Amino acid sequence: MLDPTQAGVSEQDWREATSSCELLGVADVVRETHDACSLVFDVPDGREERFRYRAGQFLSFKVPHAGKVLTRSYSLSSSPECDPRLKVTVKRIEDGRVSNWINDAVEPGDALSVVPPAGLFVLNEKARPITFFAGGSGITPCMSLLKTALLTTDRRLRLIYANRDERSIIFGSELETWAGRHPGRLSIHHSLDDRDGLLDVKRLEHQAVDCLEGDFYLCGPGVFMDLVERALAALHIPSDQIHIERFVSPLDPDVDRASEEITGGDVSAVAPESITVVLDGREHEVEYEAEERVLSAARRAGLAPPFSCEEGYCSCCMAKLAEGKVRMVANDCLTPDLLEEGWILTCQSVCVSRNVRVEYPD
Ligand SMILES: Cc1cc2nc3c(=O)[nH]c(=O)nc-3n(C[C@H](O)[C@H](O)[C@H](O)COP(=O)(O)OP(=O)(O)OC[C@H]3O[C@@H](n4cnc5c(N)ncnc54)[C@H](O)[C@@H]3O)c2cc1C
Repeated sequence: MLDPTQAGVSEQDWREATSSCELLGVADVVRETHDACSLVFDVPDGREERFRYRAGQFLSFKVPHAGKVLTRSYSLSSSPECDPRLKVTVKRIEDGRVSNWINDAVEPGDALSVVPPAGLFVLNEKARPITFFAGGSGITPCMSLLKTALLTTDRRLRLIYANRDERSIIFGSELETWAGRHPGRLSIHHSLDDRDGLLDVKRLEHQAVDCLEGDFYLCGPGVFMDLVERALAALHIPSDQIHIERFVSPLDPDVDRASEEITGGDVSAVAPESITVVLDGREHEVEYEAEERVLSAARRAGLAPPFSCEEGYCSCCMAKLAEGKVRMVANDCLTPDLLEEGWILTCQSVCVSRNVRVEYPD
């Protein structure tokens, strides 16, 4: 297991940062391309339920680095339908701290601190066709989704997969194998920058126009995602057909969001002195300080609710707002439907009414 003190992290900081984690043993490291590898994990006996996942979800890792604990999420490229072990696939980012460490230093036999699977980038129940737009490492959740959709549905699938060059293609031959096993159901279109030129909105529109009634799953780096979103907007695709996973790193733990983002408006005037938090079916009255996030209040009271990114994208800390009002500082994952049902991200929720009751799911 990693030694946090060697990376300048105190035992107490490490304990706090990893309170919602489990240790997972690395069973294998697979070199996928010159700049990407997969980590394959064994789930300890008795922890299978906690690590049950849906295709498209991700694991979050806590990594001690230069005196801080960094949180990084990596999508599962394995499918719960056909892969016996959990697998994530990590591509190096230039000067990236965790992605390079994983590619350079992690070996079979290591144990990593991992937050169990989370995420909302999952298959919906519809029968319509799916177009995947994957850029570079964005193939990882798409790989899991497309294997699962092939095995559990009759949906027709198309993958538009953008890479810099041929050697950067992750899962190239595995994708061909899946297409061969399911003739007529999966078509794969590679776009290589060095062969086809950089993708632009017009070319992406052209790729999407054949399938306007289907679902679109988008995953990849920022610039790629912006282009695909612009192409789908130009085609007037309704938002309930568009599913997005953004690959970002959260802010470092010692960097705070600007405080005006949190306060903006007079929240202290209506802040409650305590809130009710229901966790594991038990009700707790928790002290609350004005402008504090619900998750922080619960943790300060000694509770251990689930959380991971603390940035509003991972959905680990989701809970139902059963009473009262909160204001969310950021929300990069809850859909309008989930908001309508009363779900909130507790890491981003500031209380703005006198009585607040939050219920974590069992
Ligand atoms: C839900 C989700 C799923 C994801 N799935 C995958 C996946 O399957 N595969 C995958 O490869 N990635 C995935 N990612 C992205 C991944 O989590 C990381 O963001 C990525 O690996 C980069 O992390 P890093 O620590 O290597 O880079 P960072 O250290 O975060 O660096 C990122 C950029 O910031 C710059 N930087 C360097 N040092 C600093 C510093 N001190 N402060 C600020 N910036 C700095 C770097 O130059 C670099 O350009 C996913 C992200 C999310 C949110």
